[in-house]
Amino acid sequence: MIPLVKPYFPPREELMPALEEILYSGYVATGQPVFDFEDKFKAYIGNDNIISLHSGTDALHLAYILAGVKPGDEIISTPMTAEPTNTSIAMIGAKVVWGDVDPTNGLLDPKSVRSLITEKTKAIVLVHYAGMVCDMDEIYKISKEFDIPVVEDCAHAMGAKYNGKMVGNYSDYTIYSLQAIKHMTTVDGGFLAMKNGNQMERAKRLRWFGLSKDKSRLDNDITEVGYKYAMNNVNATIGLCQMKHIDEVVGTYISNGKYYDEALKNVPGVELVRYNNNTECSYWLYTMKVERRDDFCRMMEENGILASQLHHRSDTHSIFKESKRDLPGMEDWYSHFVHIPCGWWVSKEDREKIVEVIKKGW
Ligand SMILES: *Cc1c(COP(=O)(O)O)cnc(C)c1O
Repeated sequence: MIPLVKPYFPPREELMPALEEILYSGYVATGQPVFDFEDKFKAYIGNDNIISLHSGTDALHLAYILAGVKPGDEIISTPMTAEPTNTSIAMIGAKVVWGDVDPTNGLLDPKSVRSLITEKTKAIVLVHYAGMVCDMDEIYKISKEFDIPVVEDCAHAMGAKYNGKMVGNYSDYTIYSLQAIKHMTTVDGGFLAMKNGNQMERAKRLRWFGLSKDKSRLDNDITEVGYKYAMNNVNATIGLCQMKHIDEVVGTYISNGKYYDEALKNVPGVELVRYNNNTECSYWLYTMKVERRDDFCRMMEENGILASQLHHRSDTHSIFKESKRDLPGMEDWYSHFVHIPCGWWVSKEDREKIVEVIKKGW
């Protein structure tokens, strides 16, 4: 069966000696490998204001704190995502306000965002779902007009671009996840990127109980409670090995995605997604809309190919029942979208077979 997701790890000969060395080095907590990994990732994204964390969820939690969101405030978000985008809003005690999605791609619809802004809105969080980049031209207009910070959830969008530069360069806060099935994994891990450097020191204290690494433990005074969110040397060592392969790995997702964009044009029963202007998708999953989705997924499985929705909409969870509202764009999108395998493990032969199978119909 060709799976929808699969963790990539560098060759054993490369990874194992590095892991063995760090495990027996006497220093597995946060140290030099973590700072080296941060430097490599900063260079990859092209932004110096980035800190590593233990998970993408930690990064979301810190982003909302740094954005100044308080209990009772509102954050406009999307239901078309994995759970942490929104459970981390609940962690702050803020209220999720569901924006609707564009039914042609499942991405947060700026028109809906604009209509939902109140004096309580303290942040807009958007998700580049499956690697497709949101309509940032419009989102930034709204952010500027109402002076509301944008949190970009790039957990699915490593390597995606806006205006020719990596995502992670433009928004007030951008988060990445290095969880098992993302484009790049360190088993678990995350990054928080900020547009301005002026919150770097506070962000670093928040990731380590509220302590500053610049002073000795004896000279430290905690003035704001922080968390245990730092990355460790073991995860960072995996990350340093991953960085040597990131262009090739992410490049394979993208070339497979572009192949499908061409090969699946005008196939009966398939509706391709609409990509936003000035954006470049990084195809964490290949996403499209199909007619009779259950039949489609069954037919694919009979041919040894996994196809599914992978994510459950976030707005139906009991913890969010007070936020419930009608989302017609979401209803349309959610009843038709599907993912097919697209990642680094999908060979040229695999992708040709996948297209052939779809073209035969279901
Ligand atoms: C994976 C993921 C996260 C956070 O992931 P962690 O598992 O905490 O690293 C956040 N948002 C989305 C959309 C995700 O898929």
